[in-house]
Amino acid sequence: MTSEELATYDAFMTQRRAKILERLGEAARTAGRSASEVCVLAVSKTVGVEEVASAWRAGYRTFGENRPQELRRKAEGIAAIPQMSDARLDMIGNLQTNKINQVIGTAHLIHSVSSMHLAEAISKRAVARNAVARVLLEVNVSGEASKSGFSPQQAREALEPVLGLDGLDLQGVMTMAPAHDPGAARAAFSGLRELRDTLRADSGLPLDVLSCGMSDDFGIAVEEGSTLVRLGRIVFDPAYPLDV
Ligand SMILES: *Cc1c(COP(=O)(O)O)cnc(C)c1O
Repeated sequence: MTSEELATYDAFMTQRRAKILERLGEAARTAGRSASEVCVLAVSKTVGVEEVASAWRAGYRTFGENRPQELRRKAEGIAAIPQMSDARLDMIGNLQTNKINQVIGTAHLIHSVSSMHLAEAISKRAVARNAVARVLLEVNVSGEASKSGFSPQQAREALEPVLGLDGLDLQGVMTMAPAHDPGAARAAFSGLRELRDTLRADSGLPLDVLSCGMSDDFGIAVEEGSTLVRLGRIVFDPAYPLDV
């Protein structure tokens, strides 16, 4: 970007962030919650490091990527900008076992532990590197065939074995809601919260992180208890229709 384009993008980023926080605040108030309980993760998968730096200047501190290689590329870009040392980068997408090494030590939190097989593989790699990987279980609450993740029942069954794995720090659960169906999205978010409450009771652990809500439905997610919304288009895309 030219310096002029960058200034325009910075101004867009700041205005857009104010609108997002306003909407988030409304949703939190509706639910009798505080907006400060909700982390806004900016999903940077479609933009470059320049746009990420612009988002950082606007106030975002948590970013998310869905591909290991792009996660590494963004991590290197961010590391080259000393002021951004407080930026955090999460892995939010499908993770193949042969890519785990690219993510451990780079991702602050892995949202997408979608099977027992993957949990075991992450554990093994983390132990080999003397690291602890913070993770969420990805749960397919809506039951759509196209979505990956544990069913709620499988998540309950996986809890004990997952907690028995070294090198993993289980912090909560994540889901992707059905698109273009606010009622179904709400049901998925409340189902995720109920599952978390069950897992919490079963384990005695806080399991504080409820990662749910994207550009189209984050208000609903916050009303239903989300503590971390993953926002891509609404943060970075000036063409995203904010007022529909
Ligand atoms: C892309 C992506 C998002 C962000 O989606 P938007 O609709 O652009 O907000 C959130 N979560 C995951 C896992 C994604 O891959």
